[in-house]
Amino acid sequence: MTHKVLIIGSGPAGLTAAIYAARADLEPVMIEGMQRGGQLMLTTDVENYPGFPNGILGPDLMEAMHEQAERFGTQIVTQDVTKVDFSTTPFQVWVGDDLYESESIIVSTGASARWLDVPGEDRLRGFGVSACATCDGFFFREKRLAVVGGGDSAMEEAIFLTKFASKVTLIHRRDEFRASKIMARRAIEHPKIDVIWDTTVEEVVGDQAVTSLRLRNLKTDAESEIDVDGMFVAIGHDPNTSIFQGVLDLDEAGYVITGSNRTATSVEGVFAAGDVVDHVYRQAVTAAGMGCEAAIDAERWLDHAAR
Ligand code: NAP
Repeated sequence: MTHKVLIIGSGPAGLTAAIYAARADLEPVMIEGMQRGGQLMLTTDVENYPGFPNGILGPDLMEAMHEQAERFGTQIVTQDVTKVDFSTTPFQVWVGDDLYESESIIVSTGASARWLDVPGEDRLRGFGVSACATCDGFFFREKRLAVVGGGDSAMEEAIFLTKFASKVTLIHRRDEFRASKIMARRAIEHPKIDVIWDTTVEEVVGDQAVTSLRLRNLKTDAESEIDVDGMFVAIGHDPNTSIFQGVLDLDEAGYVITGSNRTATSVEGVFAAGDVVDHVYRQAVTAAGMGCEAAIDAERWLDHAAR
């Protein structure tokens, strides 16, 4: 059976696309991935999504979107896409041995956390090294923690971790934060948060679990060591586009290149939305907006192709 719209990825972009496509009677299929819901599943309070004056938890927001997409008849597959072929029509998408065919595609695979790539980090992942405070903060009651990064994510993680940790040290490579002023101020003024400026982590030290970090001051070149029980890395993200390499045009950083109507990719009938395209705004609300655009663009394209 050939579907009309197949959506790959289930963050705010994919789910909004699903809601719009389903309400347009396009009976979308969504391959949501093994870790459904995207990055909002790894966040806590979302205070800037319009319509929730008291904030909403990221996972709750995604659950609500998921419910809404299903209510209008989206068929959801909880698997990862393993291969795509967009050189023939209908387009082909594999989930292991299962082949899905669709007249149009919406790519909304989002982005994933970046790592520091220093000795000890990979070995101790899950043993004190994490990129998700919401997932792992609970395990660090009354422990000393470090958060690496200077953006909004680092501020958010550090503030969240103060609920559990005895002390949180923010380690940033420059002498000012990239984060919004309000988030930076909340972190700097927090009694449980210290900041180490101009510094990088050179090594994560520990045998069975993290015990300390070896640091280097970038201005003085001085080395030091800080005793911590955990390190949370919050230094940004990379787009999840490995399966589209050689299939869609990607920019140098791996983001899908889209055209003048924002969601059209280099392959006609394939659209993209959310963090897999957008490395500038990267907000739940902008991703949702783009998901809506992609569904409308796909609908118009299908209409046009049918004529
Ligand atoms: P980001 O804004 O790109 O910040 C990444 C931070 O990590 C920067 O401070 C950067 O340092 C640092 N960094 C990058 N690579 C590094 C490395 N190899 N070693 C050490 N430090 C490194 O990423 P983000 O904080 O994840 O935020 C992404 C987007 O989401 C932003 O638009 C942000 O506003 C938004 N966001 C919003 C909220 C909210 O409003 N509640 C929460 C989270 C995220 P430099 O500053 O020196 O480049």
